[in-house]
Amino acid sequence: MVKKADFEAPVLGDYTEVPAVTPGAMQHSQPYVAKPAHNEALGYPGELVDNWQEVAVNKLGELVKGSRALRVYLDSCVKCGACTDKCHYFLGTGDPNNMPVARQDLLRSVYRRHYTVAGKYLPKLVGAKDLDEEMLDNWYKYFHQCSQCRRCSVYCPYGIDTAEVSMAAREIMDTIGKGQKYCNEIIGKVHKLGNNLGLPEPALADTLEGLEEDVEEEINVAVKFPLDVKGAEVLLVTPSADFFAEPHIDGLIGYAKVFHQAGISWTLSSHASEAANFGLFIGSVDNMQKVAMRIREAALELGVKRIVFGECGHAWRVGYSFLNTLAGPFDFLDSNYPVPQHIVEVTHDLIEQGRLKMDASANDDKRVTFHDSCNVARASRMGAKSGGQFSLPRDVIKASCNHFFDMPADTIGEATFCCGGGGGLLTDDLVELRVKGAKPRMQALKDVHEQHRITHMAAICAICKSQFSKVLPYYGFEMDQIISVHQLVGDALVFNSDS
Ligand code: SF4
Ligand code: SF4
Repeated sequence: MVKKADFEAPVLGDYTEVPAVTPGAMQHSQPYVAKPAHNEALGYPGELVDNWQEVAVNKLGELVKGSRALRVYLDSCVKCGACTDKCHYFLGTGDPNNMPVARQDLLRSVYRRHYTVAGKYLPKLVGAKDLDEEMLDNWYKYFHQCSQCRRCSVYCPYGIDTAEVSMAAREIMDTIGKGQKYCNEIIGKVHKLGNNLGLPEPALADTLEGLEEDVEEEINVAVKFPLDVKGAEVLLVTPSADFFAEPHIDGLIGYAKVFHQAGISWTLSSHASEAANFGLFIGSVDNMQKVAMRIREAALELGVKRIVFGECGHAWRVGYSFLNTLAGPFDFLDSNYPVPQHIVEVTHDLIEQGRLKMDASANDDKRVTFHDSCNVARASRMGAKSGGQFSLPRDVIKASCNHFFDMPADTIGEATFCCGGGGGLLTDDLVELRVKGAKPRMQALKDVHEQHRITHMAAICAICKSQFSKVLPYYGFEMDQIISVHQLVGDALVFNSDS
């Protein structure tokens, strides 16, 4: 049973309305601040340093010098307003600081004050502001009300990416010793033990052994969940939530069934037992690289030929867009396959080659829609064709079930709404924000449910799955209406007992 928090969940109407602007509506919302040990494990000062204003301003200067994109984002906004009603957190809360342009301005105003001539001499005229305690307080609150989903950038005529601004602000805050507990504690666990959960190798091995027994009992086929097997063809790197959480674990079972039926040898790694890379959320290339290097080290140690990522949205962004830069070259892998590949690409290829025996009617008890996850939709691709990140998951779902219906067009694909829990916000101290930020997606789900009697929403992101399990009940849905795409696949695969 999900415990409901002390606030009113938004009521869903007939269509998504732009809310009345309510200044300060989410001024009370902020995540727990990291403890000294959490910050220090990542190479940051444990607590707010004495000369924090000076350090922060210097760091901002360093960031704009090192990233032409960030400088352009901070320089080029013309206040056209096109982004103002595009953020799910503004739509769910009405707080004007959750309009993307206002969020950017929190950083932009300090940038202008220190790094533009007009801001130095005529600050009021150009909206330049000092970085004082009130400003830092607003940075901490409102840059932790951005899930870095990039939806606003799709509608901005200049392509200004608030996610990058938000990452920069978080990196500056880490640099002065004001990190966020949830992200920093998790990254520390990955550095120490290899996964977000802090799950040691024996516990992981036990979990996988238990899964083997469960699956064999259910389908009478000895599907393996191998760990640290040298010489396997594929290294599967998957979010650690896949090892224990619902509905994630059914996705992991689905991947294992796919590999088993296709006769592809594979292994998980206890060294790289996490696909997620929260270094992205705090804007830290150093931490992102340290996490990514574990994948390279595991691939070399195990002597695999391919690296495949499980269902995790931001992990796929890091994998697809940055893995080669962070941890390459991967010239020791099989050059016939992209580095890395997504499990959806693997399954899609196998379906096209006729190597999977599927019976979609096994899912006839379900009427399914699909939630495009932000990082997959707007920060990566799949397959060889443009838009593959939208078509491949849908092809795989349609091969696995007979009743598929999309949500309204302006809420899917490139325009998809964030689940409300991405970007390092999937923590109970932000539950109000998460529930309210989920409103646009819940509205779209309600629409498709009313039209097509949808029973389930499938996703390929561990954060989306956890977030929806939590927030669906606030909107009158059941928490188990969110499922893994590879649960549908796994349930549709046909096995003979001698397979
Ligand atoms: S990146 Fe997403 S969460 Fe952040 S301001 Fe833009 S729309 Fe909102
Ligand atoms: S859409 Fe772009 S240019 Fe227009 S206000 Fe928003 S960030 Fe500025």
